[in-house]
Amino acid sequence: MTIDLHTHSTASDGTDTPAQLVANAAAAGLTALAITDHDTTAGWDEAVSALPPGLRLVRGTELSCVSPDGRGGHCTVHLLAYLFDPESEVVVREYARARAERRERLARIADLMATDGFPISAASLLESVPETATAGRPHLAMALMRAGVVSSVDEAFARFLNDRGRYYLPSSRTPIEESIEMIERAGGVTVLAHAFAVHRGPTVTGEVVKELAGVGLSGVEVDHPDHDDDARKRLRVLADELGLITTGSSDYHGTNKVIRLGQETTRPEMLAEIARRATGVPVVSG
Ligand code: AMP
Ligand code: FE
Ligand code: FE
Ligand code: ZN
Repeated sequence: MTIDLHTHSTASDGTDTPAQLVANAAAAGLTALAITDHDTTAGWDEAVSALPPGLRLVRGTELSCVSPDGRGGHCTVHLLAYLFDPESEVVVREYARARAERRERLARIADLMATDGFPISAASLLESVPETATAGRPHLAMALMRAGVVSSVDEAFARFLNDRGRYYLPSSRTPIEESIEMIERAGGVTVLAHAFAVHRGPTVTGEVVKELAGVGLSGVEVDHPDHDDDARKRLRVLADELGLITTGSSDYHGTNKVIRLGQETTRPEMLAEIARRATGVPVVSG
C-alpha cells in the first residue's frame, strides 16, 4: 500500500492536470492519492473521471489560514481538508472569496516587483492564470522564469518569493479555528499540513497544535519533505499525546517542485480512520 495524501494539480499551482495527476500516481505505484489543490474543489470531477483501476482517490483541498503562533503573534498555516461536501454553501462561498483574495494578492506582489523594476505586470500575470485555477506564488515564479529573471521556480522562491522575502504578502486572514469548524460542519476531516516546516517561514508551537486539537483538528502531517527528523519526531510525540491521526505526503506540485509522488507516505490505518470519520463524500475507487 502506497498512500500519498497531499498533491496539487493545475486547478491550483501544480503542473499536472487532474487527469495526468491520477495517471502519474498509478504509474508511480500509488494505491491511494489525495488531490488537495489550494482553496478549490475544481479538479475533483476530472480526477474521478480519469481514475485508473486500482487507485483510490481522496478528494480534498489545502486551505491557507492564519493562526496564533503560540509566541504572542500570528503566522500562516495550511490546513488539509478531506472528504467534505463540496456543495456546502459556506464552503463554496469561503473558497470563492479566498480565490478572489489570492488573485488580488498576487497582483499586489507583482505590482511591488514591477515598481522595483522587474519586467512583469500584474495584468498579464493574472491573464496567465486560468479563471478556474487558484492563483499562487508559483504562477508568479513561472512568469519570472518566462521573463528570464530566474531559471527555476525554486530560484524565484529562494531569491524573491519566500515567506521572509521583501515581496511576501499573506494569502489569507481566515482564522484556522473557523476553517476547522467549517470543514467539520461540511462532513470533512482536517489535518494540519507541514506544521513544523521552519525553513518555509514562521511556524506554530506544539501548544497551538494542542489548542487546535481541542477545536476539532483531526490530524497532523508528520512526514513531509519540508520536515527534518527533529520536526517529525516532535510532531509524532505530540500526535501520540493528543490522539491525533498522523499522515505522510509528498506535497507534489508536478514540475514546480523537485518532489516525486509517493516520496512520503501515509499508513493505511490512518487513511481508514480519515475515511471512517468523514461524512461529506466517500473515497472513490478506480
Ligand atoms: P501561495 O499559496 O501563493 O502562498 O504559495 C505557496 C506555494 O508556493 C506552496 O504551495 C508551495 O508549493 C510553493 N512554494 C513555496 N516555497 C517554494 C519553493 N521554495 N520552491 C517551489 N515552490 C515553493
Ligand atoms: Fe502550492
Ligand atoms: Fe502547504
Ligand atoms: Zn500543498
